[in-house]
Amino acid sequence: MLVETHYRKQLGLKVHRVTKVEVTGDSVVVCIDRLGRRLLRCSVCLRRCQKVHGLGRQREWRDLAFRDLPLKLRYCPRRVDCPRCGVRVEDLPWAEPWARVTRGLSHAVATLARELSWKGTAKQFALNWKSVASIVRRAVQYGLQNRQRPPVRVIGIDEVSRRKGQVYLTVVYDLERRVVLWVGDGRTEEAVATYFTEELGKRRCRTLEIVCMDMWAAYANLVRQYAPQALILFDRFHIMQHLIA
Ligand SMILES: [Zn+2]
Repeated sequence: MLVETHYRKQLGLKVHRVTKVEVTGDSVVVCIDRLGRRLLRCSVCLRRCQKVHGLGRQREWRDLAFRDLPLKLRYCPRRVDCPRCGVRVEDLPWAEPWARVTRGLSHAVATLARELSWKGTAKQFALNWKSVASIVRRAVQYGLQNRQRPPVRVIGIDEVSRRKGQVYLTVVYDLERRVVLWVGDGRTEEAVATYFTEELGKRRCRTLEIVCMDMWAAYANLVRQYAPQALILFDRFHIMQHLIA
């Protein structure tokens, strides 16, 4: 999978696409554009809007770092002509309308801030203290702490490489809910074991029913060890058809 596809999936883009991923001196920039003429949504009422009123100025959002490099998303939000609300800025799947950081980053910051001081958290994410404070305040406001983690039944494990042959990450998806559950460095058995031992834990491993992976992947042993009840499937196409139906 290419890194563009990885970001498109991770950010949950449906009416936007990743046009390029640039590594500049000290950061990675993910450039986003509208996907064809797909309808954009109003950020106030989330209705699909037929008319685009115009282009806003280019904005940037900080996202979770790609390894140690800060990552930024770059996009010109459109103003849409909503039949109900009038001219509004479009809804962005990766961030709240007011935010300068992505939902992914703000969630990570809010989570770490429960363990570390705000200053420590700021340092960890190379943000300033005020950004952390406002993220935490909003997270509390939005009841992030009430977020429930539903049982995971069907997962897919993928390697993601930046270019062919250069493997960086392993990504675990919830194939039923179509969300990314976990991203880990490397593709070794050891690296991916962390997902089962730390992220899922013993109890939640028990709910796994199906694990999809590439035939040549090194994870089959992990599944046998941590979730022996789960069925290992090398043919994702069929399970996806089944889930969509
Ligand atoms: Zn609206």
